Amino acid sequence: MSRREKIYEGKAKILYKGPKPGTLVQYFKDDATAFNAQKKATLNGKGVLNNRISEHIMVKLADIGIPTHFIKRLNMREQLIKEVEIIPLEVICRNVAAGSICKMLGLEEGSALPRSIIEFCYKKDELNDPLVAEEHILAFGWASSAEIDEMTALTLRINDFLCGLFEGIGIQLVDFKIEFGRYTDENGDQMILLADEISPDSCRLWDSVTKKKLDKDRFRHDLGDVVDAYTEVATRLGILKQNPGTPPKLSIVSNEDE
Ligand code: UDP
Repeated sequence: MSRREKIYEGKAKILYKGPKPGTLVQYFKDDATAFNAQKKATLNGKGVLNNRISEHIMVKLADIGIPTHFIKRLNMREQLIKEVEIIPLEVICRNVAAGSICKMLGLEEGSALPRSIIEFCYKKDELNDPLVAEEHILAFGWASSAEIDEMTALTLRINDFLCGLFEGIGIQLVDFKIEFGRYTDENGDQMILLADEISPDSCRLWDSVTKKKLDKDRFRHDLGDVVDAYTEVATRLGILKQNPGTPPKLSIVSNEDE
């Protein structure tokens, strides 16, 4: 790991230079942060689970024709990806009201939305990733009109597919955040790829019947059993073998509120 050149270190992942030009290695850490990194902890095993869950989802999305940055998983914590220029927007898709939309519009958590809603947030930690309008995106040149249309169309297809995937394993996809990047292929053709990760860190996933939260909200709101919940998602997706004899342990190494 240390032999590789580190390109970038984020809150939950590290990017290293890949073995070939145009590739990177994405390393999943056990670190968890919330509320713009005011709350921090290390959750043993989270990185391994997110690596596997994100791989599983990216492969399934590629199968239905969604272009993604994912090339292959290298080991328990690393995957080989295509190097992209990240568009500085977080694309959020919501099916059910939860989190920031409840605060912003005075909605009750869990209330159905009239239809799926897509939001764009400007990726800027110092500003708390503010919600922005298409006007801001175009005026500041963060993405072109064609790129906004492409991201919107891809996000709706991803949402349709993931809603079905999770519904089939008794999980409601409440909302999720994705990121896209610009990529130029070997023929010089430019395209937009789904980048980053899709995991319980970036989605709200509720048990369809009990509404138990199986995602990062367990960490955000101190509900406990965070890694158990991620393990449950991985098990239901068929990634992990069910092993009822040895339930995974959640071990919080540090947890500080700044
Ligand atoms: N989300 C994310 N990273 C962020 C902000 C949001 O992965 O920096 C995900 C979050 O996990 C949820 C969805 O995007 O699945 C919508 O989040 P929301 O806007 O409700 O923000 P929050 O309430 O998490 O601050």
